[in-house]
Amino acid sequence: MKKTGVVYLVGAGPGDPGLITQKGLKRLGCCDALVYDSLASDYFLDEVPDHCKKIYVGKRAGAHSMKQEEINRLLVELAEEGLNVVRLKGGDPFVFGRGGEEILALLEAGIPYEVVPGVTSAVAALSMAGIPVTHRAVSRSFHVMTGHTLSENGTLPPDFDSFAKLSGTLIFLMGLSNLSLIVKGLVKNGKPEDTPAAVIENGTLPEQRTVRGTLKDIESRAQQAEIKSPAIIVAGDVAALDFSSTLNLPLKGCRIGITGTESFAGRLSHELLNLGGILDNVLTLSIASYRSGEAMKEAYQRLKTYSWLVLTSANAVRDFFAGLFEGGYDLRSLGAIRFAAVGKGTEAELLKFGFHADYVPDRYQVKDLAEGLISQLTKEDRLLIPRSSGGSPELNQILEEAGVFYKDIVLYDVALKQSEQESMENELAPLHYLTFASASGVDAFFQGEREKILSSLASLKVVCIGDITAKALSRYGREADLIAPVYSVSGLAEIICQDWCKEKE
Ligand code: SAH
Repeated sequence: MKKTGVVYLVGAGPGDPGLITQKGLKRLGCCDALVYDSLASDYFLDEVPDHCKKIYVGKRAGAHSMKQEEINRLLVELAEEGLNVVRLKGGDPFVFGRGGEEILALLEAGIPYEVVPGVTSAVAALSMAGIPVTHRAVSRSFHVMTGHTLSENGTLPPDFDSFAKLSGTLIFLMGLSNLSLIVKGLVKNGKPEDTPAAVIENGTLPEQRTVRGTLKDIESRAQQAEIKSPAIIVAGDVAALDFSSTLNLPLKGCRIGITGTESFAGRLSHELLNLGGILDNVLTLSIASYRSGEAMKEAYQRLKTYSWLVLTSANAVRDFFAGLFEGGYDLRSLGAIRFAAVGKGTEAELLKFGFHADYVPDRYQVKDLAEGLISQLTKEDRLLIPRSSGGSPELNQILEEAGVFYKDIVLYDVALKQSEQESMENELAPLHYLTFASASGVDAFFQGEREKILSSLASLKVVCIGDITAKALSRYGREADLIAPVYSVSGLAEIICQDWCKEKE
């Protein structure tokens, strides 16, 4: 009999992807099915394994959301198929999240489950807006209520009156369309009209907006600002406080899309996040390695016949050494071979394996690499260039013209991770910058309809890690707006920072 899967009810946090718990992320990282809705940020779709089924059950423009009973059934069915399921819910699963109903269905079907709590928007959106839910001598309690059921027949529910009379901070979720009713109800129950109030839209997200006022004018102010859902309403003296962050990071408000391998995207995201950027992994490249193929096998066998190893990316370094070790060789088989590395990142990666590069061009340009290298060669030198299939043909041309013996072998190939192409257009629209870190990344990006892709790049700035990448881009009819001064993750971050600060001036 098939083993039943486990259902994990995971709180995704209030919107900022950094506010999911470590435990939640871990569960995402090893699930076979993901059941999610719109409050759970799309960001997490990248966190699940490739084989994971992703099932959207929320409301999105035009489409109907799945009914709660259907979701319950779906969870049971997936688990009965033997899949480990993450049911990802915005905020905390139990704060107006209907998590309890899902658990009752799981219990009835005998499906094991685990709850992973989440940071609720009821607290976090306020924190990010600088409104503390409690504050010494100002508010000794906070109370959260749904504003959703208020107007079923246009009236307030009976328990609203006692809620309104509480002295602490009053917080309403799902209440925006009933703002008028809520405000009137509070005043009717004795709250002074000058009680501070606030409405927070898209709390914790880069688009977060806060409207502040009092019970007298909060409705008109929210209307004027055209505040939309999701939004939280707060009433109470704490709403007059503003403890919002005073940290002004250089990339605050800047949205950057990243294309690249998982490892590269991880490093760049880390750097940009620390600078305050808002990141989106637009396109993740997966790597198909040919390090154990015939051509590379032969190259490893005949390593001693080469005098230079030319490495044109950090990935080539990693893959080359992985193949070397897997083939049963070790560093001794490299003998006195010399190393050319195409840039700082490649050089640093090489050092991790214990080798200083013998040659690194000043600029990341094929011409510089080839010509600089040629100037160091003698007639006896033989070059081995294991690199990606999308490597620049210019290198071969220059080497050939100079009569240099070289062997260019395809070590790896990069490709798009499944189905990312379709969603790309929507993802690009809100971005300020899009980064490319390799010519093969550019090729993968342009796999779809070229005109469409080009037009989706019209409103943003394209940033390339170096000249070779920029040239590859230019072949598709788009010039790079920025090229990193140094071929590295930090170089990319630096040029974006410089440009963003200039934009803001
Ligand atoms: N379980 C969720 C709440 C689900 S109810 C939690 O714990 O946060 C959905 C309501 O939550 C929305 O109508 C809105 O009032 C509120 N909400 C959720 N995320 C929000 C956000 N980022 N900013 C403002 N309000 C949010």
